[in-house]
Amino acid sequence: MNNFKELQKKYKELENKYKLLSDLMDMVPDVIYFKDTRGRLIMVNQTHAKGLGLKPEEVVGKTDFDIFPRERAREMAKDDLHVMTTGKPIIDKIERATRVDGVDNYASTTKIPRYDNKGKIVGLIGITRDITQRMQFERLREEKALICKKIEGLEELNRMKSEFVSVVSHEIRTPLAIIKDAVMLLIDEVAGPLISKQKEILTKAKNNIARLNDIIEELLDISRFERGKIKMRYSLVNLSDLLMDSFAFFKKLAEQKGVGLEYDLPQGQEINIFIDAGRINQVIANLVNNAIKFTEQNGKIRIEVRILEDKVRVVVMDTGIGIAKQDLPKIFNKFIQLASESQVKRKGVGLGLFITKELIEKHGGEIWVESELGVGSKFYFTLPRFYTDKILSKDIRDKINNLAEESLPVYLVNLLIVNYAQFQKEFNIDSIGLLGNLKVFFEETFEKLGAGDISACSPRVCLENYKEGEIGILLLKAGEEVAVKFCDLLKNRIRKYFAAQNLENVFINLGVLPYDSKSQSLPASRLISSINIKKIRVGLEKRRFRRIFYKADIEILLPGEEIESSQTIDISEGGICFIAKRKIETDSRIQVKLKFPKVKPFCVMADVAWIKYIEEAPGIGVKEYKLGLEFINLKTKDKKIISKFVRSRL
Ligand code: ADP
Repeated sequence: MNNFKELQKKYKELENKYKLLSDLMDMVPDVIYFKDTRGRLIMVNQTHAKGLGLKPEEVVGKTDFDIFPRERAREMAKDDLHVMTTGKPIIDKIERATRVDGVDNYASTTKIPRYDNKGKIVGLIGITRDITQRMQFERLREEKALICKKIEGLEELNRMKSEFVSVVSHEIRTPLAIIKDAVMLLIDEVAGPLISKQKEILTKAKNNIARLNDIIEELLDISRFERGKIKMRYSLVNLSDLLMDSFAFFKKLAEQKGVGLEYDLPQGQEINIFIDAGRINQVIANLVNNAIKFTEQNGKIRIEVRILEDKVRVVVMDTGIGIAKQDLPKIFNKFIQLASESQVKRKGVGLGLFITKELIEKHGGEIWVESELGVGSKFYFTLPRFYTDKILSKDIRDKINNLAEESLPVYLVNLLIVNYAQFQKEFNIDSIGLLGNLKVFFEETFEKLGAGDISACSPRVCLENYKEGEIGILLLKAGEEVAVKFCDLLKNRIRKYFAAQNLENVFINLGVLPYDSKSQSLPASRLISSINIKKIRVGLEKRRFRRIFYKADIEILLPGEEIESSQTIDISEGGICFIAKRKIETDSRIQVKLKFPKVKPFCVMADVAWIKYIEEAPGIGVKEYKLGLEFINLKTKDKKIISKFVRSRL
């Protein structure tokens, strides 16, 4: 009886073991097989049989010669023989086989000899694993490493090219200036009177020298951008004044071609923005010159400025030859010229718009174009609008005066938190803590300057106003380079600080304020040769409406009854911002359906205020558009819903 029970128990155990082993055989994705000494399969698992389109029992008795092409089977038989005659296993042998459809398959095979009770080899166990994906991944990794290396090489070449362009351009500049002076002397008849034909020839030479000069300046700009060496000199500028400064010049230029030119500037509202006036002048000159260049007689050019919620938008419109739809995405690329057969080859090298775009983006603005062949073009750009601030107060001036030695350059680096009270409230920062931290950053930054730089100047904190949120430091005997380096390091440090605190919407920018010693009424006896003021301003972006970053579903009703679904990036009581798959024309009025949670979807009207091109990869072309919409004629009811929604999430 006992014996029977024991047998039953043993049987149960064996049954369990068998179940476990057969589960293992059937569940693993690897091919498992047993062969006898003659290479015949005596047992295979499901994966093996399935791969051959058979059942496991149908495979039993077959050899590799029945299954695989002869050459391959022979190779396998050789391995089998090796394992079974030497008793040495083959571990993880990687083999490649090309599938019928041409795709390479990779497998890793392990073959282990099998012994009987007496230690005699009676066959082998084989396991084969498909490692195609792993191999593909490894190949991709190798390819990636190779491409990275190639890119590094190209970057190095590009850097060398930029440096070469820079050196050559600089070298050409000097002799060109000498040639220009010589030609001017001749034209001005300093070297003797000229007959009109001679004057005509020399004037042509002068014009071409100017053209060459422009090209050299453009090449220098490009190499500066590429080497990250472009320096911006920001100051507080009245945009209308800036535009009006060049109005007469362009008007005359346009009239010479029989083209009308008019400016439409906002009346009764000052636009003081923080920009590099020289560079923005360059942008305007590029766009207006192009408009004149590509507009025929009797055409019209119009420059319009509009104040948006937190930006200023400028558009240069012309009724010229226009740009074909397929050319629009590449118009801001380097060396693009689209002269068609019917057009005369125009002057220029196709760098103007590229430089224009870089300059606008450096200012934190957007630039885009709308155009139709034969109708005209509209080049738009925006610039951020920030608070203006006051120039030096009297006690600071006195301090500078007391500290500075006569006839030495002095740099005042002044950090001001714009709208300090609101800033503190919004970010819940106590003034002692914040200003204390910022003061430490000043000291740290100074220590970070190289030893040579430090010995050149010694800093003095000359202003600490915890109530107004202002710190000033004087760099005595410092040169421009040291001051710029100091400001850049300081800005980076502050930027990191705000980022670490998760504070969004903070702007940090550096300005150079004109310091007019006369209007600042310094005592003449103590006049310092030069005071340079670098103002770092930290603040909240100026907006009429507070915006929240919120993804709400929206539907845009496009002209022609088409509907595009999207999500907002941010929402304010003034408008929304979202990504659109297709372009919608600037200023076009569209209907937007807003879908806020727990509120019935509702429609509002909005104008397309600004557009930002988003490229998937540089040079590939525009893929998406980031659009800023401003609400128009909001119904009181809708206004209330939006306002409640935004405020509840502030
Ligand atoms: P370029 O200095 O050669 O004019 P840009 O970068 O300023 O170079 O312009 C590149 C090309 O874009 C021009 O050659 C022209 O084909 C086209 N383009 C620029 N502005 C206009 C415009 N207002 N109307 C039509 N085509 C334009």
